[in-house]
Amino acid sequence: MARIKVGVLGATGMVGQRIIQLLEGHPWFEVSEVAASERSAGRPYAEVMQGRWKVQGDIPPRVAQLIVKECNPNLECRLCFSALDSSVAGPVEEDFAQAGYVVSSNSKNHRMDPDVPLLIPEVNADHLDIIPQQRDRWGSDGYIITNPNCAAIGLVMALAPLHKRFGVDKVVVTTLQALSGAGYPGVPSLDVIDNVVPFIGGEEPKVESEPLKILGALDGGKFTSADLTISASCTRVHVVDGHLESVSIGLNHKASLDDLIAAWEEFDPLSGQELPSAPSPPLIYRREDDRPQPRRDRDEGKGMACVVGRLRKCSIHDYKFFVLSHNTIRGAAGAAILNAEFLYKKNLLWL
Ligand code: NAP
Repeated sequence: MARIKVGVLGATGMVGQRIIQLLEGHPWFEVSEVAASERSAGRPYAEVMQGRWKVQGDIPPRVAQLIVKECNPNLECRLCFSALDSSVAGPVEEDFAQAGYVVSSNSKNHRMDPDVPLLIPEVNADHLDIIPQQRDRWGSDGYIITNPNCAAIGLVMALAPLHKRFGVDKVVVTTLQALSGAGYPGVPSLDVIDNVVPFIGGEEPKVESEPLKILGALDGGKFTSADLTISASCTRVHVVDGHLESVSIGLNHKASLDDLIAAWEEFDPLSGQELPSAPSPPLIYRREDDRPQPRRDRDEGKGMACVVGRLRKCSIHDYKFFVLSHNTIRGAAGAAILNAEFLYKKNLLWL
């Protein structure tokens, strides 16, 4: 099969280069366009990325020689991944959707729009039914889908099977977020070595609101929020990749420790769909006392699986546990690619 040509908007950033790395050798998609700001445009990708390529391995040779373009909707592809800085992602993604492109975005700008799916294929695939409404808004075949904030996605993956079986009504979460989540160069070394920073600008509102949209319903052409309350505290820690989160939950219906573990271990909604980036299983429960750990567990399922552990009774709510997810793979680049694979399987990349 001829591979589908895709563009990467924000191709020079941390998430953009991860997308390029993960798409190398992809069975369905082939990077044919790379775009960024006017500062980078007009030069070969390899030249622009000298000293800036931070992911493992070399730049794929075919991408290295592509000329970086500006983010105008005249790229030769039908699907674009967006890893744009949020200061520009909003209007750029709208221009592309209006011009008929499908945009799979990492940026926060359109996540909460009333006709934009905030998609985790394992959790809320039915939210794609909103796409015709969005196409009407743009007056084109194009549309935007988004993936969640990098701390929200691990939390939702752990909550989704529990919410479905037992109803989760309250969540208190403290995140220990990796440095790569701040892009490059990110947090200054003198602020973070031998330290924990108990603040990440704008993060807590995202972790408190995005899961409610994802776990909510699409009813009568409108998203309704899930009926649960989340209180989040977000911290930056001295780890390169992998967000660890300490979570305590209250449930609507009684459940045992074994019931919760079974809900996680039986959760595999994409099984059999053969999506290249879908991990199977998407959730792994570790029984050791000291797991999950970022360095040891973040690469499970090639960085796409979330790892849960240390489930125990909570003396304030019902239960507490830890969840770990790879922030630049499951929390960003890999999530955008999995979303696009899901659209392809659902015949949503073409009319
Ligand atoms: P980054 O490293 O700062 O990269 C930003 C990208 O945006 C670069 O390619 C940059 O191009 C481009 N850009 C900046 N200003 C532009 C302009 N005026 N016009 C066109 N392009 C412009 O950021 P990042 O960490 O990759 O994050 C990218 C997006 O993903 C952000 O919205 C972020 O919030 C989101 N996200 C990040 C993570 C993570 O773990 N890092 C996780 C989830 C979501 P130049 O190189 O030419 O300036």
